[in-house]
Amino acid sequence: MKILIANDDGIYSPGIMALAKIASRFGEVKVYAPDVEQSSMGHAITHSRPLTVKASPVTFEGIQAYRVNGTPADCVALGTFLWESPDVVLSGINMGPNLGNAMWHSGTLAAAKQAVLLGIKGIALSTPVFGTEPDFELLDPFVEDTLNLLLTDKRPQLFNVNFPAHPTSIAWTRQSVRHYDGKVIPSTDPMGRKIYWSTVVPLDPAEEGTDRWAVENGLVSVTPLRLDLTDENELREKVTRQKL
Ligand code: MN
Repeated sequence: MKILIANDDGIYSPGIMALAKIASRFGEVKVYAPDVEQSSMGHAITHSRPLTVKASPVTFEGIQAYRVNGTPADCVALGTFLWESPDVVLSGINMGPNLGNAMWHSGTLAAAKQAVLLGIKGIALSTPVFGTEPDFELLDPFVEDTLNLLLTDKRPQLFNVNFPAHPTSIAWTRQSVRHYDGKVIPSTDPMGRKIYWSTVVPLDPAEEGTDRWAVENGLVSVTPLRLDLTDENELREKVTRQKL
């Protein structure tokens, strides 16, 4: 199996090294990752300047790794062009959760989405960070179990996976779509100039069966996603009631 690995935290993230190590148990692995952090870039692509791909000096224990001066989606577009027909694209492990409405901003998920747009299975993997770094040794068997679960089926599906800090088991979930606050926090820089921090805060408690609920309850959340955003009910109503 050919496994292409990307992320949005950049090629020097401990999360991508942990994922590359685990993925190498499943097949041949190559890493194409941004040269600097690209978190919250969503599905941006670079079209106004050329991109470069450079062999990375980082040691991935014999795994070929390349750094790209572009977005997570660029990494997957270039990686699948340079390394033909990978069977799956894994993105992560992101240092920070990608739950509920965070999916709209996530560069981690966008890399997996880019794979599915190209007809390749895409899996995004994320975990929260408390204090210094996530305990990837502790997560290792749960990441392996999740990949075992998702890699048996070859169809080009999209999955969003989130690991709690201390998982107990794996659960199928749906996206939590509750009201949230795209919050702006004003502050001042050391020169006394006005600056703003942008953040996202969930306003409502998580509903049972959702991704947020699962991670809050110590479960690995696995959400199957689709690319078609069409509101089918609304479309049906429009077609029948509002003839154009
Ligand atoms: Mn990130």
